[in-house]
Amino acid sequence: MEPVACPECDLLQRLLEVPPGGKARCARCGHTLASRPSDPLDRPLALTLAAAIVFIVAHTTPLMGLSAVGRHASTTIAGGALEMWRQGEQITAVIVTFCAGIAPGTYILFMLTVLLAVRRPPAPHWVGEMVRWGHSMQPWSMNEVMILGILVALIKIAELATVEPGIGMYALGGLVVLFPAIMLTVDPREIWRRVEWADGQGPPRAEAGEDIRTEAGR
Ligand SMILES: [Zn+2]
Repeated sequence: MEPVACPECDLLQRLLEVPPGGKARCARCGHTLASRPSDPLDRPLALTLAAAIVFIVAHTTPLMGLSAVGRHASTTIAGGALEMWRQGEQITAVIVTFCAGIAPGTYILFMLTVLLAVRRPPAPHWVGEMVRWGHSMQPWSMNEVMILGILVALIKIAELATVEPGIGMYALGGLVVLFPAIMLTVDPREIWRRVEWADGQGPPRAEAGEDIRTEAGR
């Protein structure tokens, strides 16, 4: 195992395997260098399942009610995007579909697949490929991007009608809380630990590169 530099005091040291629920601290300053949650897979899986249910609710219930010229109607996210497309707002329709639908949906599917696949080691070889590929998809599932998509949709629709938030809107609000919770509880080291049995290449080189940058930056 390669030695790592403590980000606080720069002491180079070799990390031993951290037991579940344990922490590795710097020998000199006590800074936490690595930690391993006691339930590294169950909690993110539960949160991801919750996110999947909330995602389905968000896309099947009315996002908002619309009142215009005495008529009342409600629309889902897909319905709203379709209406925007018809009104000649193609770019907005694509942004909303991608940010509120495709990106978060792909992220949930990706997390579910990876978390279920690594439960029974050795993890299949394609999990390693999937995690590498997922790194490039993650920025697009970030909350800011999703909220931006919803805001654009709201502003566009509010120009045409009076908007009342529907159940779908509250469900999207729930996703905004669930996504960072998944990212906080999932431990990439734990996933890589299980993938390495099948995939001899190990974690992405970016991690080692970051360590070197930390060293050189001081
Ligand atoms: Zn230290």
